[in-house]
Amino acid sequence: MKTRAAVAIAPETDLEIREIEVDDPRADELRVRMVASGVCHTDAIIRDQWYPVPLPVVLGHEGAGIVEAVGSDVQGFAEGDKVVIGPAFCGRCEQCLAGHPMYCVNFYDRNFGVQRPDGSKSFSDAQGPIGSHFFGQSSFAELTNVVAHGAVKVPDGVPLEILGPLGCGIMTGSGAVLNVLQPQPGSSIAVFGTGAVGMAGMLAAKAAGATTIIMVDIVPERLDFAKELGATHTVNSKETDPVEAIKEITGGGANFALDTTGVPPVFSQMTQSLATRGHGALVGAAKLGTEAPFAIGNLLLTGIKVSMVIEGDAVPKEFIPRLVSLHARGLFPFDKLIKKYPFEDINRAFADSADGSTLKPVIVF
Ligand code: NAD
Ligand code: ZN
Repeated sequence: MKTRAAVAIAPETDLEIREIEVDDPRADELRVRMVASGVCHTDAIIRDQWYPVPLPVVLGHEGAGIVEAVGSDVQGFAEGDKVVIGPAFCGRCEQCLAGHPMYCVNFYDRNFGVQRPDGSKSFSDAQGPIGSHFFGQSSFAELTNVVAHGAVKVPDGVPLEILGPLGCGIMTGSGAVLNVLQPQPGSSIAVFGTGAVGMAGMLAAKAAGATTIIMVDIVPERLDFAKELGATHTVNSKETDPVEAIKEITGGGANFALDTTGVPPVFSQMTQSLATRGHGALVGAAKLGTEAPFAIGNLLLTGIKVSMVIEGDAVPKEFIPRLVSLHARGLFPFDKLIKKYPFEDINRAFADSADGSTLKPVIVF
């Protein structure tokens, strides 16, 4: 079957929209007609080969669409179902069985291997096979085969066009807060980075009842927007030492903190801005081999905890419907982070995300 897809061909080079071949879904897959897909920072760093993912490949991992065909072994889905696609996981390893599928021992292969476990790829053209199954979905294609157990059914009345980012960026920020940090009502949190991931963390902290929410960034417009969306304080860390500012605002340190930047000095600032027995989490991605200073002499007595968090440590089938329902009640207005682009403008969406003019681009097919 033919489909139109955006193919990544070389680092720092525009994706190419082409007509390619897509094979039939396997027994454990769904064929989904994509309605929309978010663009995440991770798509750009894979296009640019921060991790050695083979090219050419169809990227995209925040897809939302409609089920068009159901593999013979798949249960619980029918043609016409609306789905948001989360990352792939094996479902059988000790982490999956312990309820932490985002730490699946096969996570890297399933999500960055860009092929099925049997080595096949579902896309091809005259030049040969094209990488598929990026995050179990390769959502920058109108028709794509997705791993069924990564798909999450959403109710009929939902605004499907905007839900794709719940499968990665929005789930990452909000899950790190709601599943890992778990701020109590009345607590304080500092979030470093006001991109889509940081803003989702902020909205989640607000929904959880945190009453001091400090947003740190180096871009004044983003900080203004954070304030509009519910930050109680903002700190421009280009002008002000964020550790001192956070200690001053909170009277000693934040109960919780989230680093969405992956920038080594920011990670250190995060650890130093925590209160005694505070809990910080890193979600920002850095190039393999990156190290950050961690002041073990100073921090020992503080009893702080630091977690490394993938995809919000969520169980997407359980977590995404909760986010949909918070959104429906007006308690999680993540739609305010989104700007829509027609599929043809996907490279503009990447560029606007890279230069910071759009927080969360969503391409609409
Ligand atoms: P983004 O680029 O939109 O946001 C990052 C923000 O950090 C920007 O606003 C930028 O101005 C700010 N920043 C950069 N340097 C800074 C500094 N020195 N001090 C303060 N702020 C600084 O990206 P995003 O979409 O919000 O994603 C954030 C990160 O999360 C990316 O690295 C992405 O790859 C990663 N990510 C991780 C997971 C995961 O599972 N852990 C999932 C999705 C995305
Ligand atoms: Zn992502």
